[in-house]
Amino acid sequence: MSSAEPVRYWDYLAAYEPRRDEYLRAVDRVFSSGRLVMGQEVAAFEEAIAAYCGTGYAVGVNSGTDALTLALKALGVGAGHEVITVSNTAVPTVAAIRAAGATPVFVDVEEDTFLIDVSQVEGAMNGRTRCILPVHLCGQMADMAPLVEIAKRRGVRIVEDCAQACGASYRGNRAGSLGDIGAFSFYPTKVLGAFGDAGVMTTADPELAARLRRLRFYGMEGSYYAEEEGFNSRLDEVQAALLSLALPGVERAVEKRRELAELYDQGLAGVGDLALPAVREGCRHQFYLYTVRTGRRDELQEYLRGEGIETRINYPHPVHLMRGYAFLGYREGDLPVTERLARSILSLPMYPELPRRHAEKVVEAVRAFFRGSR
Ligand SMILES: *Cc1c(COP(=O)(O)O)cnc(C)c1O
Repeated sequence: MSSAEPVRYWDYLAAYEPRRDEYLRAVDRVFSSGRLVMGQEVAAFEEAIAAYCGTGYAVGVNSGTDALTLALKALGVGAGHEVITVSNTAVPTVAAIRAAGATPVFVDVEEDTFLIDVSQVEGAMNGRTRCILPVHLCGQMADMAPLVEIAKRRGVRIVEDCAQACGASYRGNRAGSLGDIGAFSFYPTKVLGAFGDAGVMTTADPELAARLRRLRFYGMEGSYYAEEEGFNSRLDEVQAALLSLALPGVERAVEKRRELAELYDQGLAGVGDLALPAVREGCRHQFYLYTVRTGRRDELQEYLRGEGIETRINYPHPVHLMRGYAFLGYREGDLPVTERLARSILSLPMYPELPRRHAEKVVEAVRAFFRGSR
């Protein structure tokens, strides 16, 4: 197969081009409004995203990392406290726990969904545990029902890392609506993406929402007076306006992702030693990532590269084995499933505008790889 037309892993231009005028008009509307920060655009987006997630409140911030950090702070999680989470995640999950002053405690993940292994959570708890921080990785939510039950019974809080899960749901509940606070990133590659950095925190609790608003604005309520120590983490008016334009398209985008996932599922079933993404019953996977597993991952990636097909590894290094987190004291072998996944996972091209013929080319190339080497 020749690779005349490269198959991109991700691309936002195909979504931007047809709506360019709308986006540019929104930017001009903000620039001409006389108000560049903390104005009507942020308030309008917060209302819209809270409605979408089915939470009463949403508070905009400047990144997903800050959303996680401020969520922990608002729940009183800080120095001397432990937060149970996974190492099979993006570095910012862990960076945010440290930024809040707390210590991450890692448990392993389920091999087929890549999500937190709930059966390990209670064993990792002790008197310092204050919070469980499940990561809804790849577009599917962690098994929330037992987590909520454990948190209630043990008197700890839950912050959901929803950076990869906008549009996902669990038994009819949207990501960000089952924990005490949901933390979203709108980094451009995410399912709802801004044109730069942006994030939001969702909650059903009006007092928590008020505290989150304070924390993002130097701890101030009115002007020039801090009620508590805070941060500067504002969502700016331009990003909010652009996000408000993009939000109504999320459902359609998720449907397109699910159609592409279906195409991959059908084309790749039973091929070689490939394991396809597992979807938990009663859950809506939005396929932020379509991640397969194979014992011959590096060879397959190399072969696809030769065919002009971009792929990614999300993520090649578990956080607990990174030099930057060596001080936490974990060693190779501590989280066997997480470590095995890092060696076997591969994410195939996936974005709503990915042409079907590109997805078909991916299927053909993967099949050819396994055929050729039988
Ligand atoms: C992207 C991401 C974040 C961080 O979001 P930023 O907006 O880049 O700060 C956190 N957690 C996960 C799982 C992510 O994928």
